[in-house]
Amino acid sequence: MGQLHFFLFPMMAQGHMIPTLDMAKLIASRGVKATIITTPLNESVFSKAIQRNKQLGIEIEIEIRLIKFPALENDLPEDCERLDLIPTEAHLPNFFKAAAMMQEPLEQLIQECRPDCLVSDMFLPWTTDTAAKFNIPRIVFHGTNYFALCVGDSMRRNKPFKNVSSDSETFVVPNLPHEIKLTRTQVSPFEQSDEESVMSRVLKEVRESDLKSYGVIFNSFYELEPDYVEHYTKVLGRKSWDIGPLSLCNRDIEDKVERGKKSSIDKHECLKWLDSKKSSSIVYICFGSVAIFTASQMQELAMGLEVSGQDFIWAVRTDNEEWLPEGFEERTKEKGLIIRGWAPQLLILDHQAVGAFVTHCGWNSTLEGISAGVPMVTWPLFAEQFFNEKLVTEVLRNGVGVGSVQWQATACEGVKREEIAKAIRRVMVDEAKEFRNRAKEYKEMAKKAVDEGGSSYTGLTTLLKDISTYSFTSD
Ligand code: UDP
Repeated sequence: MGQLHFFLFPMMAQGHMIPTLDMAKLIASRGVKATIITTPLNESVFSKAIQRNKQLGIEIEIEIRLIKFPALENDLPEDCERLDLIPTEAHLPNFFKAAAMMQEPLEQLIQECRPDCLVSDMFLPWTTDTAAKFNIPRIVFHGTNYFALCVGDSMRRNKPFKNVSSDSETFVVPNLPHEIKLTRTQVSPFEQSDEESVMSRVLKEVRESDLKSYGVIFNSFYELEPDYVEHYTKVLGRKSWDIGPLSLCNRDIEDKVERGKKSSIDKHECLKWLDSKKSSSIVYICFGSVAIFTASQMQELAMGLEVSGQDFIWAVRTDNEEWLPEGFEERTKEKGLIIRGWAPQLLILDHQAVGAFVTHCGWNSTLEGISAGVPMVTWPLFAEQFFNEKLVTEVLRNGVGVGSVQWQATACEGVKREEIAKAIRRVMVDEAKEFRNRAKEYKEMAKKAVDEGGSSYTGLTTLLKDISTYSFTSD
């Protein structure tokens, strides 16, 4: 049989497109043709990296095909083609509706190109039907880990949050390999409510289409969460392939600097600053591509940093300068570097000066921290971030929580400076040795997993074999 051809269709959000680009590079490096499907506004997320590969003479075949995103037709502002660009949360249903209108053009593309499989985002549940029409397998990409999907599954089956009498009382998530405790405040309201909402309908469709799909690709690796890989595949009976950490395919500086967006700081300036610092001496703070903090919560964080006494590099995604406590930047100019906008996260995390990562526990960031061997200070906000926090702080034990307990789209409820400083000092000073040793072990495991013969390398080999046999049997 000829060259395999994968269609990859991520949700239009940085946290989904960035790992998809890495996935495309990875599968293309194994001789597969990869076609990424996206909208015009998002083309640049992929095109620069692909061009750079071409300029370097790297012979990999990645194409981009664009589908118009019907924003205006769905009462969204023009150019609202990415989740972080929606004006308010209330516009979320419009965004999903617009995405579903991409079905027909996608089918035309599949008709034209006849790929061997469709790897598509969990948030594009209708793609299972599309793939079925063409008798090709649909593989789901959730962008998260096994642990989070196992916790989510148990929550839906057992509804343990119904057995407690207050929002702050803890309950155990049943039938998991570890005793995981949560409170109602840490669980998404969509999961808890019996009432139907647009979001709960979307999530139901996601689950149903998941079950009908051929299997699930994970940006994770076996050695990181073996109990949960077993649980997911043996107890829940799902087919999966773990092929991560995907970010480890970015080996040179350029690839690390420009992921998703153009970095807001010159790489030389950033490296010069980092080079001037001692090993494991600074804290890196970044909350991903969508999380929002109120000015008062940001001020509290700034004060927490000062109280911790640690040097820092802080990526801040707001134009509003109200978050700066009076005189903060002047007082901390020797100790801190503030990046206003997009940070070259991989470049920073991989630098030996970084000793801790204050993260919102988005899975990409979390796994990037793990792959770089950096202990974490966890500050989850929404999505499955509270589950990811449990994985880090209680299963892997390579980080500590800052005390965020409220599931919310905007961080506005009181995490106090003392708690922030305490968590940072635990990881950077008081228990630094234990955290660093553990983090280093995971870094080594991650690298081994993606090296030739490692678990993720073999996971990808199995995926490619499964797809060739699928194509073969269905011909
Ligand atoms: N990222 C980055 N620079 C930034 C912010 C984010 O490079 O200033 C990247 C980060 O490395 C990760 C992705 O954007 O790959 C964010 O994904 P994640 O799942 O951590 O969070 P989300 O943005 O989806 O909440």
